[in-house]
Amino acid sequence: MSLHPETSAITAGRPEAAPDASLNPPLIFSSTYHAGGPVSYGRYGNESWSALETAISQLEGGETLSFSSGMAAISAVFSILPIGAPVVASNQGYSGTMGLLNQHHASGRLEVRFVDITNTEEVIGAMKGAALLWLESPTNPCLDLADLPTLISAAKKLTIGVGVDNTFATPLVQQPLSMGADIVMHSVTKFLAGHSDVVLGSLSISDPALFKRLEEARRFNGSIPGPFEAWLALRGIRSFPVRFRAAEKNAQQLVTRLQSHTKITKVRYPGFGAVISFEVDGTAEQAEKVCESSRLITHATSLGGIESLWERRRRWALESPSVPEQLIRLSVGCEHVEDIWQDIEQALGSL
Ligand SMILES: *Cc1c(COP(=O)(O)O)cnc(C)c1O
Repeated sequence: MSLHPETSAITAGRPEAAPDASLNPPLIFSSTYHAGGPVSYGRYGNESWSALETAISQLEGGETLSFSSGMAAISAVFSILPIGAPVVASNQGYSGTMGLLNQHHASGRLEVRFVDITNTEEVIGAMKGAALLWLESPTNPCLDLADLPTLISAAKKLTIGVGVDNTFATPLVQQPLSMGADIVMHSVTKFLAGHSDVVLGSLSISDPALFKRLEEARRFNGSIPGPFEAWLALRGIRSFPVRFRAAEKNAQQLVTRLQSHTKITKVRYPGFGAVISFEVDGTAEQAEKVCESSRLITHATSLGGIESLWERRRRWALESPSVPEQLIRLSVGCEHVEDIWQDIEQALGSL
């Protein structure tokens, strides 16, 4: 039976029902197992990971591997590409991914073709002979959108592998595997886990042979999650759809108000989700001051948690110079919208 994601998030990854069986999966701390079974060793498998992986698979499709972080998941994908493989990727995206791609390109490990992901023709034009199309949509932090169905089908015609970082949209908005993508990646740290208490990543993969190669990469790179982190993430997933929708509703109300605020020059919002990026009418220092002036909204990096957070992205040296200096990325949480708005208004008063 195919369930709605709101239901799967609650029911997936639970032990089979039996008298006195626990409702929740156990937390297994063991580096080794008695000989003779399929797992054998703690780097090869863990029941607490499997429960989380089952839940993410029910949301995204395919089969899922969990990793020690979102970056570990992305690194695993790049690690199975041949030396010098051409990769098409956005010229703007999560700073860690951009840093990794730049490093691989500079060392000759990969030949990265950076494109404007909003320009479908340009992206398709760069695909010839590529091994992988790596997409992030919406992008972090500019919230640019790629035309996923068109790009994925163009790549498939050329037998190019497609990976999609679905951290911002989440499976509630789009399920790239159902559009033909080969890999969907999550920084589980963000919306899925949702409580700013774990760092974790995942890859959901449609093809069993590709799954096997990536599982091997995780084994050999040793980029496995901790059992407790996996357990916490699954606990977070139970409420992910409810949190996401509540935060999205708040975000949609805030976008309208931000757009008409006189101290704000530009608001970026893709129409869904809980992240808003906006530019203030002022210098980098003034934007920094706004972030420091909040009382309810936490001044911190990261996103997708139940609490509202914001920061000026260019405070990071790794952030792309194409991101405006005065851009503030706001991750809207589940507090009452009027309380968030009141805090935004008072913080903008520092301008
Ligand atoms: C945070 C983030 C990552 C990296 O994930 P970590 O869990 O921090 O390693 C990758 N992509 C996007 C879009 C992110 O926001």
